[in-house]
Amino acid sequence: MRTKVAIIGAGPAGLLLRQLLHTYGIDNVIFERQSPDYVLGRIGAGLLRTCSRMISTAVTRA
Ligand SMILES: Cc1cc2nc3c(=O)[nH]c(=O)nc-3n(C[C@H](O)[C@H](O)[C@H](O)COP(=O)(O)OP(=O)(O)OC[C@H]3O[C@@H](n4cnc5c(N)ncnc54)[C@H](O)[C@@H]3O)c2cc1C
Repeated sequence: MRTKVAIIGAGPAGLLLRQLLHTYGIDNVIFERQSPDYVLGRIGAGLLRTCSRMISTAVTRA
């Protein structure tokens, strides 16, 4: 049976969770209240550093 997960928010945490779930073959969908332009406009060095720290933590604990 496949699990379907609803993720609230396309911030770094939501995007990382989506990627991890996808890696394990778990269906998921993100709900974001802001526009795609807003989400894409946030991508920058700061958020990339946040994501890379979160990925390091996730890999360590896996
Ligand atoms: C001014 C500022 C500068 C920063 N600079 C840096 C930096 O240089 N380097 C760094 O590493 N970090 C920086 N940060 C921190 C970084 O932005 C956060 O660590 C990171 O954004 C947290 O990610 P998150 O996914 O937990 O939450 P968020 O990024 O807040 O994402 C949450 C998302 O959920 C959406 N959402 C919320 N409620 C709902 C709802 N009910 N329904 C649908 N969607 C919803 C929001 O619109 C948002 O897109 C900075 C933060 C600020 C405020």
